Parts: sequence; C-alpha cells; structure tokens
Amino acid sequence: MLYAGYQVQGTPPQLLAGSTSATNNAETLKQDLLLEYGTMAKTPALGTGDLQSLVSHMKSRANEDGMFYWDVQLDRGGRMTNFFWRDGRSRIDYDCFGDVVVFDSTYRLNKHNLICAPFVGVNHHWQTTMYGCALLADESMPTFVWLFKSFLESMGNRHPQSIFTNQDQVMSKAIEEVFSNTCHCIAHWHIQKNAASRLGSLNGSKAFNKMFIKCMQGCDSEAEFEETWAEMLRAFKLQDNKWLKKLYKLKQKWCSALNKCTFDGGVEYEPQCDSMSNIFSGIADKLTSLSAIAVAVDKQTEDWREKEYDEDTRCCQKPPACIIKHSDILNHAAKVYTHRIYKLFETDFLDGCGATKFKELQCEDNNIYQYEMTMQGRGSRVCTVHFNMNTMQITCSCSKFETMGLLCPHALKALSIKNACKIPEIYILKRWTKDAKKWVFNPKQYEPSYQECMDDEAAYCKYVMRYAYDLVMKSQGQEELRKLLWETLESGEKELEKYLGDVNQYAPSYAT
Ligand SMILES: [Zn+2]
Repeated sequence: MLYAGYQVQGTPPQLLAGSTSATNNAETLKQDLLLEYGTMAKTPALGTGDLQSLVSHMKSRANEDGMFYWDVQLDRGGRMTNFFWRDGRSRIDYDCFGDVVVFDSTYRLNKHNLICAPFVGVNHHWQTTMYGCALLADESMPTFVWLFKSFLESMGNRHPQSIFTNQDQVMSKAIEEVFSNTCHCIAHWHIQKNAASRLGSLNGSKAFNKMFIKCMQGCDSEAEFEETWAEMLRAFKLQDNKWLKKLYKLKQKWCSALNKCTFDGGVEYEPQCDSMSNIFSGIADKLTSLSAIAVAVDKQTEDWREKEYDEDTRCCQKPPACIIKHSDILNHAAKVYTHRIYKLFETDFLDGCGATKFKELQCEDNNIYQYEMTMQGRGSRVCTVHFNMNTMQITCSCSKFETMGLLCPHALKALSIKNACKIPEIYILKRWTKDAKKWVFNPKQYEPSYQECMDDEAAYCKYVMRYAYDLVMKSQGQEELRKLLWETLESGEKELEKYLGDVNQYAPSYAT
C-alpha cells in the first residue's frame, strides 16, 4: 500500500528500496523513476532541480561507496515524501555499536517544511556516531513505519536493544510495530526541553528541577518514584497539570527506576546527551537545498569520524595513565578498555574503594558473598551486591552493569574486598574495548557466522565484502597502508589462481 504511488507496469515496487551494492539496475531504475515522478511534483519547494541535486548527490556517494544505501518513498501523486540514506561505514558502526540507537525527529527545515531525522549511537570511545539520516515530509504512522523498516533492512534486520527518541505518540506506535524486540525509551533531554516550554517559570525553579530530575533518574525503586512524584505535584500544586498527567502515563518509557535492565550505553549522561541533543542546531535553518542538507549531514558525520580516528590513534599509542600504578584491576582495565571508558571505570573504582562503607551479610553457601554498600556523602541509599566466587558472577541492585555495561563502584568494592585482580571476563563488554571493531569482520571467531558463510552463498558474499570494505577504509589514509593492502590482495589472488590451476589440471574430463 505504501508503494501505491510507484506502480509502473512490470516493475515490482520493492526494487526501489535496496542497497546500491545489490544491483546497479535497481539503482538506475530508482533514479529514473524519481526523476520521472519528480517532474510531476506538486510541492513547489521540491522542484525537479532540487530533487535532482539530491539524487545526484546520492548517486555520487553510491559510486564512491559500494555499501552505500538509500531509499525513497513517493506518494500517489509522485511526490517525494520520505528519504533515507546511510553509508557503508555507518553499517559497520551499527554492526559494532547498534545495541543502542537514538532517533530524533525534532529538527525542522524551514524552507522545505521537512524533518531532518538522524539515527545516531555511541561508539567505543563514548562518542556520538552516525547510523543514517532521513528527510521526512510528515510524522504520520505510514511515514515512521516505512522509515523504520527501511532502516532495519539497511542494517541486515538486526534490531537494537533499546531506542531513545523524542516524545511522539505516533512514532511510539510505529516503533512497537517495527522494532518489536526493542525497548523504547523517551530521552530525558527531550522531556526537559518540553518541560521548559510547558511549565513556564516553574522550570527555572531549582527546587522543582531537583525533584523532577530525581523522578526521571534518581529513584531507586518504583515506590520511591511514586512517592517523589506525588510529593512534587503537592509541593508545586501541579495535580491538574495536563502535560505532567500525560507524561506520568508514559512513565515506563522514561523513569529509570522502572527501566533498570534497559541498556542505554550512557546516552542519557553528560556529555553524551549534550552532543546528541544538539546535532543539527544552528545549521538546519541556513540550508537552501536538499543536497546541501545531505552534504551538511555527511560533513557532521565526517567530523565525528575524525574524532574517533584521533581517539583510536591515542589508544594505539600508549595505555592510559593509571592513577594507582600497581593496581592489578586498574592495569587490566587500562589494557582492555579505550581511554575514555577506562577513565569512567577508574572513577567508579576509586569511588567504590575509597568512598564506600560496607556490611557483609551471612550466606549459607561458602562461595557466595553478600554485601550492603552505602556511598559516603550520598545519603542513606543502600545497594546490595551478590558475588559468587566460583562463577565470578557479581550483581548489584543499582544495575549499572545492565544499563551501561560497566561494573558499578559497589561491585568493584566487592571484587576488591575478595582480592580479585581482574575484571571477570563476562563483565567486559566488547563494545567498550579497544578491539570493539575487530571481531565483526572475523566470522571464524563466531562458529555460527562462519558456518553460515560456508553454507550460504549470500552470507559468504556479505561477510567478505564487509571485511574487505573495512580493510579499504582502514588503509585509505596512508600510502604505506594502501600499498600493503594491494600487495596482500595480489598475493591472495595468486594463491587462488594457483589453486584453480591445480584443480583444472587434475579435474576429470567429461567431454564426450
Ligand atoms: Zn552498584
């Protein structure tokens, strides 16, 4: 139904959506149809010239990048309604860090009355990374459903664990429909932005803000949240505030006490949320054409990638300086984690070991230890840690590992009490390590993927192309590396030719 406007005799509509690496015919067809229908466009802002410049930009990106993907949706009148694109590198980044996605549909482009909606995430240096971007004509259910399906298709149908968005009822329903395995959350920075416009002068009150933020992310349990919320409404006489009533109904999507097992990769914490909430601020209104918007998005993406490259280089050069020189566990963390993640770990370790009081509780099993921890100077909040010395499993009621993928100060204190000198393997998330991007391209390490490659031609092609693509990207910047890659490929080719020669030489002849 969504493709009703595409009906062209003999042409399956699905051909319009697809990776440019899949087939050149589909690509040419997509461009022809776009231009054909573009001439019928009734929206003055999207004249053929503007549309053509956007298509040309996509074509040129697709020519440079074999894994580039773009998709367009036209309405019944042949007008371009929605547009999505991502490049090959975004696909690779999503393969490594696609556990958490942030989607924002609040950037309006005044000239075209379009919405510029980026999909972003966080990389192993806790920096913002781009997964793709959409230009949307509206915020309707068919639009969001089309976009999310296109996004998933472009990412090999792998669903993220969690998706953080602005508050939008229609989008929420589309997420439920398309991202059925994903936990949907409303980002705190969007709630705060809305609070500023909905609550007027109250939003400037320090006392109110403190309670409001506590409701979002400072409560330990559902009971504490309910109590704080009720107290806030009473104290500021907000019982009849419609916006807060509506927000309360959606509490499952934003209250951290109710989402203790939702992985967020730290997107809600400073400075991540600052970076993510201001992606296109200041540029959207100044842009004059659709292709200029695409260029600006690509430029922003390149800037982020340069920062990632700088961090990669820093991590390769030397390990981070450990604040305690001879601490085994800190040295282990410095070895595996990237510099920025190491610093987060180090802060929690010092907090746990230097500013935590603990009480050991009796356990029947000799290998299981249970502690109650309180942090000095941070109220009476008690966190309970269970530690099994046999399996090295450690859990804490604060759930930091479940949300951020890093052990909390309480768990680190417990490890320290029991003289553990390493972080247990199961608590080192690959996505935070220096090697975060290495494993994706080596299916041998993952037996099911390797077997899939051997059994299935399409899977083999997909893995090998992505592997090669990544090598090309890595070698691009330096002449020496380019030379090295050429030589490696040439030597691989020689081996293949030699093998093929031998096979042909000894192959039985079936000639009749
Ligand atoms: Zn904890």
